[in-house]
Amino acid sequence: MKKQTTRRRAQLFGLLRAFRDAAGALPDALVAIGDEQRIRWFNTAAGSMLGLDYPRDLDARLDEAVSIPGLGAWMATGGIDTLTDVTAPGDPEQHLSLRLIPYADGHALLLVRDVSQILRLEKMRRDFVANVSHELRTPLTVVHGYLDLIEPEQIPEFESIIRELRSQSRRMTQIVEDLLTLSRLDAEDELPKSRVAIRPLVTTLHRDAEGLSRGRHTISSSIEGIHDLQGSSRDLYSAFSNLVSNAVRYTPVGGRIHIVWSSSELGARLSVTDTGHGISPQHLPRLTERFYRVSTSRSRETGGTGLGLSIVKHVLQLHDAHLEIKSEVGVGSTFSCVFGAEHLLSPEFPAEES
Ligand code: ADP
Repeated sequence: MKKQTTRRRAQLFGLLRAFRDAAGALPDALVAIGDEQRIRWFNTAAGSMLGLDYPRDLDARLDEAVSIPGLGAWMATGGIDTLTDVTAPGDPEQHLSLRLIPYADGHALLLVRDVSQILRLEKMRRDFVANVSHELRTPLTVVHGYLDLIEPEQIPEFESIIRELRSQSRRMTQIVEDLLTLSRLDAEDELPKSRVAIRPLVTTLHRDAEGLSRGRHTISSSIEGIHDLQGSSRDLYSAFSNLVSNAVRYTPVGGRIHIVWSSSELGARLSVTDTGHGISPQHLPRLTERFYRVSTSRSRETGGTGLGLSIVKHVLQLHDAHLEIKSEVGVGSTFSCVFGAEHLLSPEFPAEES
């Protein structure tokens, strides 16, 4: 009996050692955390990445042993969201991503990954797109400029070709401008925080829709609520006008387009509703990807670049807001920009009594 217990014990210790050796060999840092966020165990990578020392830091509180700003507050929220792009305590060149995985009551596993290489590649991709777009801008301006000097009617045999050249060079210019906008938004951490007056903005959007539609649709707009927004006027206008332009472009003649701003103490939304073609559900999650189109030909025919909703998504992210899409094929779509209360401003002047 005693022999059997001793053998089982040895087997258990062997298993435990094998598990620790395997976890120790991981390139990612692992920290087992117990009650009151105390460190129960960590692997070798955690030592180098987080500056933990064995046995000194065993049983220490994680936020006291690891000097990462905001770590304690993040742990206190339960670490629901991954903490991305954190600078490593001992190396400013190393970037880490932190994930907290709860596994028992009050216990959790902290998984830390070195994402420096991924971030470097991501930066290279961003710089490449920005540089290519920038380099293409000048030759395109020249081509476009010369094409504008030619009057197609004066050379009847080339009239249709010149018109096609003009339309394609305009399309290329728009793609380059949209890519440059995306690159700028990508590089931005924060946007200016100025007052964005909603009433004139909605009036402009309404007028833009009428200009694009040229009488082919019924356009209406309304404002429900008194608040303005805080953010970048230029970028918010660009995002909202993309939605308006899409509504006009993807709604057949005779359809209706409604722009509405609604706000309360709890938050606000700018919605653009159309009675257009609609989008089937399987496309919805991918609509904000660059160059994703439900129908490439329909997008091209109407002068789309495939980048509009990507710009909308980026602008909204920079305003801590998000895009909500409701759509039904053959019925129409509603695209809503949803803002939290923290980005709302009360009116500058009390509303006039009517
Ligand atoms: P595009 O320049 O092609 O319009 P966007 O990024 O603005 O690119 O939109 C991506 C795709 O989403 C479009 O190609 C189109 O298929 C679909 N889409 C966007 N808005 C609408 C809408 N209001 N109604 C129907 N489909 C839409």
